Amino acid sequence: ERENDTRFVGHPMGLLTLAGTEMWERMSYYGMRALLVLFMVLALEEGGLGLTVATASAIYGLYTGAVYFFGLPGGWIADRLIGGQKAVFYGGIIIMIGHIILAIPSESTFFIGLIFVVLGTGLLKPNIGAMVGQLYSPTDSRRDSAYTIYYMGINIGSLIGYGVCGYLQVNMGYHWAFGAAAVGMGLGLIQYKLTLNNIEGVSDKPVVPLTPQAEKKAYTAIVGFIIGLAVLTVLIYTNVIGFDPVVVAKQVAVAITTIFLVYFAYIYFGGNLNADEKKRMGALFLICLASTCFWAGFEQAGSSLNLFGQDYTQRMIGDFEIPPAWFQSANSIFIIILSPFFAYMWMALGKRMIEPSYSVKCAVGLIIMASGFIVMFFAAQLAASGLKVAPYWLVATYFLHTVGELWLSPVALSAVSKLSPKRFAGQMMGVFVLTYSMGSIIAGIFAGKFDPEQVDQMPGLYLQITYFSVAIGIVLLLLSLKTGKWEKLAEKEEAS
Ligand code: GLN
Repeated sequence: ERENDTRFVGHPMGLLTLAGTEMWERMSYYGMRALLVLFMVLALEEGGLGLTVATASAIYGLYTGAVYFFGLPGGWIADRLIGGQKAVFYGGIIIMIGHIILAIPSESTFFIGLIFVVLGTGLLKPNIGAMVGQLYSPTDSRRDSAYTIYYMGINIGSLIGYGVCGYLQVNMGYHWAFGAAAVGMGLGLIQYKLTLNNIEGVSDKPVVPLTPQAEKKAYTAIVGFIIGLAVLTVLIYTNVIGFDPVVVAKQVAVAITTIFLVYFAYIYFGGNLNADEKKRMGALFLICLASTCFWAGFEQAGSSLNLFGQDYTQRMIGDFEIPPAWFQSANSIFIIILSPFFAYMWMALGKRMIEPSYSVKCAVGLIIMASGFIVMFFAAQLAASGLKVAPYWLVATYFLHTVGELWLSPVALSAVSKLSPKRFAGQMMGVFVLTYSMGSIIAGIFAGKFDPEQVDQMPGLYLQITYFSVAIGIVLLLLSLKTGKWEKLAEKEEAS
């Protein structure tokens, strides 16, 4: 019946349920995230955590990296144990509890709140995204447009989050802002429950249920994990185990990269792939590399660029103080404005048969993102000379980052769904999401070098990111001469 449902801007009402819930979840996620580094580096006597930039950025990188990493078990739990509907609901509850804990003005509970948000988001985010696609039959051509609307919902949510939480932070204090994130997630949950009938039958049970014995084992493993995590947290809190976030971030970056490579190799060598499939996997590997580098740069938004916004950007308009978080909303605003334009551009180029290959698009996205850091190179030079720079420097950077994002992020997702060998589609998506994790953690490690005491180093650091990303981008562009052809092998297969 959903086929004929056009009540929500031409789409089934279920899309309103899912995009609406995800909008509020993202409001809470980005609203809180925008303040995280600022809160951690704020001096203890001013109500912050008094951490160094290196430590705060490393924790931030670990946090954002973990959010995406836990999407893997989160997806598995939905597919095998409880179904997506329940995973989204419980995930939302756990997220809300996390934000409520953050709203408590106590430094000791802070990290516990973060752990809740990580676990809850792992359960909610991948599953709500997958359920969007399940609203449509395989032949329903509205699917792409549905994801565009869904991505709009994400960015409207983050816009509200930056706006509200940023405003509260400056005018009422951090914990009020974290509380607002909890309220936002709460609204999302209420909305979800009230409109649940719109997604009746969608992922309401596990798609590939386990045998009763295996199910028992899985629950035991989950309980074991939670107990282990709790014990580890207590040991770290009581200083029995030392925890240096900078060291741990590096170890985790290596660990996740290893998992990525091993998993990729396991599918490549152990998956019984034919020659064409292997070539397409080669193309995908480069896309994963581009994605990792892209997020490592892009994710400076919440850390080094955020601090730049707070400390080196003019934020007073008369008596009004622009909250630092508001600069990041440039990303959401530009996404909302530019997405339709990009959708149109790819279609128009496709019609003329001159649409660039996935590999080329991703390489270009990386290079455009890198050019945003050239802007920052100049802005940082001004800042290093003791000036507070005008807000348009950051806005220009975010503009270029957003254009880069639109060249790469949705394109890479579509590449993974199209180029992966069919029987590994789900697992390859999981492997791909690890590139967000790796990128985020590397971003955190790098952002740690931005020491506010040594402003004169800043331009050089931004230039380093530029050189690195442009170099990788150019290498990928050259390799795409080959891999672009390999991608076409997917079309051949579909045609035959
Ligand atoms: N802003 C998007 C979201 O939150 C994409 C983030 C990402 O892909 N790393 O869903």
